[in-house]
Amino acid sequence: MTDYPPGPIGAARRAVAAREQHPNGGRHTADTITDDALDELYARIETLEAVAAGNKRHVQFIVPDLENALARAEQAEAERDKACTAFNAKVMELEEAKEDRATLALIFDGFGRLLATSSRDWQPYPVDAWLYAVILGWDCEETVHDGSCTHGALEETAEMHGWDEATIAKARRYRAAVRGLTEPKEPAQ
Ligand SMILES: [Zn+2]
Repeated sequence: MTDYPPGPIGAARRAVAAREQHPNGGRHTADTITDDALDELYARIETLEAVAAGNKRHVQFIVPDLENALARAEQAEAERDKACTAFNAKVMELEEAKEDRATLALIFDGFGRLLATSSRDWQPYPVDAWLYAVILGWDCEETVHDGSCTHGALEETAEMHGWDEATIAKARRYRAAVRGLTEPKEPAQ
């Protein structure tokens, strides 16, 4: 004899086993059922109805919580998708900026070589002098200064063309930006 576990699953298995052992499937008929068996059936029906009502109340009780949790999950998912899209757009923007920067570096590198290798004196004419100031810079940019340095060229050029302090500062700022582009600092090791 199989040992069935207690509880509803065990009861169901016992009922199936009982039906299999009876010629009519274990079912009572109006002729064979006893009052006790009938009472037992009614009692079981009431129990099952009570269990079903309890389950229904429980489901009704937890449905709003489940719906809230679902709404929150959907909202979180939408926010994550939005953040992902924004992030990808930023990455693409950065990639494009990097490409533009590389192209600008090539352009200014070329300008610099043109100016440096030209036999032209870039100082006497104001437009020439300004191009040189921005593209190559009049200041000495050596890290170690010695007798081969030329110092004071920017001040001399400014004096020549009437550049004020603000213009000198602007020339240094622009040259620093061009230098940052064409001679990017090696990342610290
Ligand atoms: Zn120097």
